[in-house]
Amino acid sequence: MENVDYIIVGDGYAGLFFAHQLIRNNKSFVMFSEGRKSASQVSAGIINPVVLKKFTTFWKAQEQIDFLKSSLKEIEEYTGKNYLIESSIHRIFHDENEQKLWLKKSENDDLAGFLDKKFDHLEVVKNDFLSGKVNQSARLDVNGFFTGLFVFLENKGHLIKDKFDYSQLNTSDSVYKDFKFKNILFCEGMRVKENPYFSDIPVIPNKGHHMKVKLSKPIPENITIKKKHFLFPVQDELYFYGGTYDREQLHHHIDDSAVEQLTKGLSEFYPYNFEINEVNFGFRPTVKDRRPIIGRHSEHKNLYVFNGLGARGILNGCYFSKNLYEFIEQNIPLHEEISLERFNKVK
Ligand SMILES: Cc1cc2nc3c(=O)[nH]c(=O)nc-3n(C[C@H](O)[C@H](O)[C@H](O)COP(=O)(O)OP(=O)(O)OC[C@H]3O[C@@H](n4cnc5c(N)ncnc54)[C@H](O)[C@@H]3O)c2cc1C
Repeated sequence: MENVDYIIVGDGYAGLFFAHQLIRNNKSFVMFSEGRKSASQVSAGIINPVVLKKFTTFWKAQEQIDFLKSSLKEIEEYTGKNYLIESSIHRIFHDENEQKLWLKKSENDDLAGFLDKKFDHLEVVKNDFLSGKVNQSARLDVNGFFTGLFVFLENKGHLIKDKFDYSQLNTSDSVYKDFKFKNILFCEGMRVKENPYFSDIPVIPNKGHHMKVKLSKPIPENITIKKKHFLFPVQDELYFYGGTYDREQLHHHIDDSAVEQLTKGLSEFYPYNFEINEVNFGFRPTVKDRRPIIGRHSEHKNLYVFNGLGARGILNGCYFSKNLYEFIEQNIPLHEEISLERFNKVK
């Protein structure tokens, strides 16, 4: 029997950023990864403090960005790689009204640090009304991040490539197979619906597709362009374009309508030919109030859940993993807005 401080179930952003908290605090742990491509692995990797429909920001955006950047530096120290791509988002304006709105919003205290007042003209793509740059926005090298962390976790003996089998969990003795654990944290994304302890948390799947395309005329700068969806270079002359949002079609295969939507969206501002190389999809675990769901099981006091990261898995996963860690280890209460308990109160 091996003693561990933690078992983490799930290997997306929630699981990995929590693992980072354990690494920096010298806790022993194992992470169960069933080897399926998570929603996190199909994500665009966009780090964005602005809601680009209405030019607003969100709760703790500046703190979240700062914390992510410092956490990625810490992760670089032990994996040896930098996963932050300093490539700003350029939002193409639809018309003059949007330009005016952007400028007006850029005067607000909470947005002044994010909305650049100087508009840019972009090469190759259609942008008759120019584009606005989101300062402090960036991208995560998604592929590099998962590869780098999985290699590190595997080399240190933390990674168990196996599906966690709930029927083998003995909660009264805190034992799972050959492990005696102090705490167990479930970070399963939408698969939490299969978890007998937390299946009732109110996460709603929102299916997202992206495609990787080959552009016949490349875009000269390494920037992230946003009109409807995000377009940016990835690897081997390929560009990422996505992702869509869909709450209705939730089956486990590619939807033609999503591919159509992406093709149309890209054609609207990229006036040259492109070839679709691959299409992927994943399910964002979203919550009605747009806040993560974090907390302790009401009966089994060493079982925890970290879910509901929504469309901002990177910022939410990184920032709130520290809150969760401090809640478990130091008994610091969770903010009401993210706590699992907010749903018990409604009942
Ligand atoms: C197309 C698309 C684009 C996106 N773009 C962005 C973006 O640009 N920026 C951003 O911040 N967010 C983005 N997101 C949202 C982000 O991907 C999600 O918020 C995030 O993936 C949720 O992470 P998670 O760790 O909770 O769940 P997941 O990523 O789903 O990970 C859960 C993992 O747990 C594993 N698991 C479940 N049950 C078990 C078990 N019993 N045993 C072992 N393993 C198990 C699953 O296989 C899965 O790998 C995007 C999402 C999509 C779909």
